[in-house]
Parts: sequence; structure tokens; C-alpha cells
Amino acid sequence: MPTPNNHIIVLGAGVTGLTSAVFLVEAGHDVTVIAAHVPGDSSIEYTSPWAGAHWHTHATPEDPRACDWDVQTYEYWIGVLEREGRDGTLPKAGLKLYDSFKYWDFPVKEAIWWAPYVKEYRVLADHQEPFCSINGSTPEGAGKIQAAVVYRAVAVNVAQYLLYLQERARKAGAVVIKARLPVDQGLQHALEAAEREAMSKGRRKGDCFVNATGLGAAKLCGDETMYPIRGQTVLVKGEAATIFTRSGVDYGAYCIPRPGSGSTILGGTKEKGVWSETPDPKVTEQILKHAALNIPELMTGPDGGFEIISVQCGLRPGRHGGARVEIERVGGKRVVHAYGHAGGGYQNSIGSARLTLRLVEESLACAPVAARL
Ligand SMILES: Cc1cc2nc3c(=O)[nH]c(=O)nc-3n(C[C@H](O)[C@H](O)[C@H](O)COP(=O)(O)OP(=O)(O)OC[C@H]3O[C@@H](n4cnc5c(N)ncnc54)[C@H](O)[C@@H]3O)c2cc1C
Repeated sequence: MPTPNNHIIVLGAGVTGLTSAVFLVEAGHDVTVIAAHVPGDSSIEYTSPWAGAHWHTHATPEDPRACDWDVQTYEYWIGVLEREGRDGTLPKAGLKLYDSFKYWDFPVKEAIWWAPYVKEYRVLADHQEPFCSINGSTPEGAGKIQAAVVYRAVAVNVAQYLLYLQERARKAGAVVIKARLPVDQGLQHALEAAEREAMSKGRRKGDCFVNATGLGAAKLCGDETMYPIRGQTVLVKGEAATIFTRSGVDYGAYCIPRPGSGSTILGGTKEKGVWSETPDPKVTEQILKHAALNIPELMTGPDGGFEIISVQCGLRPGRHGGARVEIERVGGKRVVHAYGHAGGGYQNSIGSARLTLRLVEESLACAPVAARL
């Protein structure tokens, strides 16, 4: 008799869970995704739809794993775009390549380790655009750009990309089940509930679980190192022609076009430990004030201001010590954790999912599973 494929139950349908599901199912495993929120849903408990999102690495040389994940994702997304360009029948992922400007209002101290890995990286001099026109129109007393670089980077239409991942996983045979798992009686109890849920839909017991529950992992497995990093953004009409991020002395600002949507995300904040989903009108004012300096071409409203579509907050799944991607044995069940990607879940996604696939296969290959490899 042929050996049945391993059945992997993925908890979570954010960018981390769905990318892992795609890699697992395309590697030949049976996959069931179980999540309280799936693409199309909107909830403060579901971070992925709130992201900008773009490739703009936050990894530092002290964290080579995160650097590697980001480089892998950059290369993979370029490959997706090249394939879409060659074959017009492929489903569109919602990715697009832009000039991405990075501005600093102070001398650059961080290591630009990523310069060799991105396309068309160059340093801008202060007489070059848009460096000089932004500084030229900045009122006296306000911070001016002191350093700028530009390179090619991918922006993501997050709603489209999540649906694309889900459909790609389904097409390869994965089943997606919408269900909330209990969080009050420990991870083992939640895994058993996930298994019952899968079996009630005609699936088998899980041979291995992937825990991609984002900030939900704080409760699901009692991880006290998790914390929210709240980000407030403003979605405006008009699709910017370029991306920018700006590091000010006491603020951060960014502008990320949503490919194909006729809209642009303006940001934003990074407030550690703040759980509230209610936007702060003062922050909205600040976001628009900074955007007006950097991207005035989007001010197309009848009053000369931005045409606001919505104002929202999302909670990045922060974790002291970085993302947790590792094997654990929980009451005899094999689990690969994949959560805590903070502000980089999209740009981490390919490298992180490849590691998840490798750990799932490692965990299935060794019996008994070593606790905490
Ligand atoms: C404003 C903002 C801007 C951002 N910009 C960028 C960017 O430009 N680039 C970038 O790379 N990243 C960006 N991020 C970060 C990125 O969005 C996150 O890192 C990423 O979305 C995390 O995805 P995830 O799949 O790990 O978690 P989530 O998207 O939160 O998914 C968690 C999943 O687990 C499920 N779940 C949780 N608990 C349970 C339970 N008890 N039972 C069942 N299911 C459960 C949820 O329903 C959901 O399906 C940004 C985030 C924000 C908020």
C-alpha cells in the first residue's frame, strides 16, 4: 500500500501561515489551514491585512537569519514578477516593483548591508531629485533630509497577495477551515481542538502542526515575550509612482502605493505595547503633515489636501528575541512555531516559510522528536 502523505495542520492564515502552507503543499504534504480570520476578514487580531506593505528590511547584521530571510523574499518576489511578465495567464500576486526612496534627517549610522542585494541601488546627492525639491519646499525650522538613497523594491497589495497565497495553496490541494481555537487551556489543548476541527471536515489527524498565529501566540502558547507594535496608517486616493520611507529625528514617515488599487498607504507609527485599535486624530494629522512635504502630488482633494479613504491601526506581532521559528514537542505532538515577525512579516515571509518547511520535514524524519531542538 502506498504511504499516505504527511498531514500538516497550519494554525493561522496571515502572510506567515499562508506562505508556509503554499511551500508545504507544493512540497507534497497534505495541508489543512485552520484560522479564526482568513483573507477578506478584517480584525485587529489579524495583522496581515493592515500592513503597508513593502520590502524595506529592518534586519541588522547582528541578526543574519533575518537578513537572509529578507534577501530570499526580495529575490523570490522578483522571480514572481518575472514569471507574471512572461506568462499573462498566471494569477496576479498583487506585487509591483517601484523606485523606493529612503531619506534620513540625520547622518546615516546604520549598516546598509542590503545594498548589494537590491536592484539599482544608488546614493543621492543633495542636488538630485526628489532630495533637493523636498528640502527646497521644507519650511525653516523643520527637519531637512541629510542623506538619501534609492533602489528598486516591491510593494504589495496586501488584500490581493493574501488571496493569491490562499488560492495557490488551495489549488495545490490545501484545505482552509475558518475556526477559532481555544487559548485558555494551553497549546496542547488548542492542538487537539485543531485536530478535531480538521477531522470534522473529513481530514486526518495531524502529523505535524505549524503555529503561525501571529500575536495570537501570546495567549495560545503563553509566550510572554510577545507584545504589540501598533501602527496607524491613512489610506488615500491616488497611487503614488514611488515608495518612500523617511527617518526623522523624532518621527518616521512612509508612503507605499497599493499596486493596482488606485490608493496609497501613508504612515505611520510604531508604538510598542499599545493594544488599542482606535486611531488617534492627532497622529492622523502628523502623518498627513509629513506626507504633504514628501508626496504633495497626492494632494488632489478639492480643498488641496489628501482624499482620505480610511484611517486604521494594526498590531505588529513583536517578540523580544525576534521571530520564533523552531520545533517543539507538545504532549507528543510535533509543532513548528512560526510567529513573532514584528514589522517584517511580508519581507521575511519566503525565507521564514522555507525554514518552516525544513523544520517540519526534520521533525517528521526524527522519531521520537527531540524536545526543543
Ligand atoms: C501598519 C503596519 C505596516 C506594516 N508594514 C509592513 C511592511 O511594509 N513590510 C512587512 O514585511 N511587514 C509589514 N508589517 C508587518 C506584517 O504585517 C506582519 O509581520 C505580518 O502581517 C504578521 O503576519 P502573521 O501571519 O504572522 O500574523 P497575522 O496576520 O496576525 O495572522 C495570524 C493568524 O492566526 C490566526 N489566529 C490567531 N489566534 C488564533 C486562534 N486562537 N484560533 C485560530 N486562529 C488564530 C488569525 O486568525 C490569523 O489568521 C506591517 C504591519 C503593520 C501593522
